[in-house]
Amino acid sequence: MTPQSITTTCCVVGGGPAGMMLGYLLARQGVRVTVLEKHQDFFRDFRGDTVHPSTLELFHELGLLQAFLKLPHQKVRSLGGVFGDYRFQAVSFRHVPTRCKFVALMPQWDFLNFLGSEARKFPNFDLRLGHEATGLLRDAWRITGVEAQTPEGTVQIQADLVVGCDGRHSTVRRAAHMEVIETGVPIDVLWFRISRHADDPDDLFGIVNYGRALVLINRGDYFQAGLIIGKDSFPQIKETGLDAFRETLAKLAPYLSGRVGEVESWDQIKLLTVQINRLRTWYRSGLLCIGDAAHAMSPAGGVGINLAVQDAVATANLLAQPLRDRSLSVSQLRMVQQRREFPTRFTQFLQLKAHQGLVRTFSNPGPIAAPRQLKIALGIPGLPQVLGRVVGIGIRPEHVGGAPKRSASAMALGVGAAALTVVGVFALFSFSRR
Ligand SMILES: Cc1cc2nc3c(=O)[nH]c(=O)nc-3n(C[C@H](O)[C@H](O)[C@H](O)COP(=O)(O)OP(=O)(O)OC[C@H]3O[C@@H](n4cnc5c(N)ncnc54)[C@H](O)[C@@H]3O)c2cc1C
Repeated sequence: MTPQSITTTCCVVGGGPAGMMLGYLLARQGVRVTVLEKHQDFFRDFRGDTVHPSTLELFHELGLLQAFLKLPHQKVRSLGGVFGDYRFQAVSFRHVPTRCKFVALMPQWDFLNFLGSEARKFPNFDLRLGHEATGLLRDAWRITGVEAQTPEGTVQIQADLVVGCDGRHSTVRRAAHMEVIETGVPIDVLWFRISRHADDPDDLFGIVNYGRALVLINRGDYFQAGLIIGKDSFPQIKETGLDAFRETLAKLAPYLSGRVGEVESWDQIKLLTVQINRLRTWYRSGLLCIGDAAHAMSPAGGVGINLAVQDAVATANLLAQPLRDRSLSVSQLRMVQQRREFPTRFTQFLQLKAHQGLVRTFSNPGPIAAPRQLKIALGIPGLPQVLGRVVGIGIRPEHVGGAPKRSASAMALGVGAAALTVVGVFALFSFSRR
């Protein structure tokens, strides 16, 4: 049967945060855009639900903030934890220079549905659910479109530009034979839910003890819980049984003791194989990759969604006009990588340092005490505020419509914040080298 054929200007593969934001922004700027999403809806659990101050600021710039904040969400104003018996606050968003001084926790499907419903208001936006890209169309060396499988058969989408936003297992980047630089990551995460009581800690909370680390994210009447485990150790954990798993949880957070029985089967636990990698080159003639397809992020700091969104904004800022004029060149695609590569690599560097520090604590299965160096590091004046800026806003925040109005003092502050973060992160984890 002859495949159905569609022509568009930009074909975005993947309706995650990067793809939906890019689709919305390009449509808003008059570009004809088709977004392909392989699933029939956005309803998937444990995909990362953190909307950071930088993304909320973008919604403000787009005039969508009020409507967005009407969706149910929780506000996280600081990130802290307990190391052994030492309680600390490591990150504070209370002073970030944006309208919203918090991270909004919202199911990702709400976030994506919101973007989808706003984007559909533009007649040049076309979202195709149930369309799985399976290969690229080529004209000699140039990529000219995508082939997709749908319940109704094969569809060929011809486009001036294909943007791979199809996540960590990107089909697009594989089909284009793009080189992936992998960085060894020593951890995986087990995600599950456990009910939450009104008197439990209400901000995001990390607990490090007994050779394990547990993250508890307040989702109102339940915690989204993440047990951080050594790389590839899930099969051993399963072998030791669910009782041992529940005991670990109760030991780490004794206030959960009466509730750990809610985890009744391994099916309730989702393994996230943590990856950190990046493409050497994010583009080819007619093709660009952004978001996790260009650089898979660890969930550390919950910044993956926000980096993906920032990539989308930079892409729309740099490419909307050449797409409209049909004058797109490879050098314009290169500019997207040049703009976004440094924030990506810097963030990945911080994530790697955080993992390395954490995993060293896993060698001690007994109760641990916070070393003096850790307490000194966490006492660096202003560190929670600086980390709040780096986590909440990122290294090179993008703004809708082009280059941000950056004063010399704002730039100096950004560089200072980045430098202090590096110092802080090294200080935080230097204790574990001893
Ligand atoms: C379990 C888990 C928990 C996480 N927790 C957090 C967190 O708390 N905070 C955070 O910021 N980040 C978190 N992350 C990372 C975060 O989800 C990603 O960094 C972010 O979603 C990247 O966005 P993206 O749009 O680039 O890719 P994705 O979100 O992966 O979206 C890719 C989209 O493409 C679709 N797709 C894939 N292949 C095809 C195809 N061939 N054709 C059509 N469509 C396709 C997928 O269905 C998906 O909708 C987590 C990741 C996982 C896996």
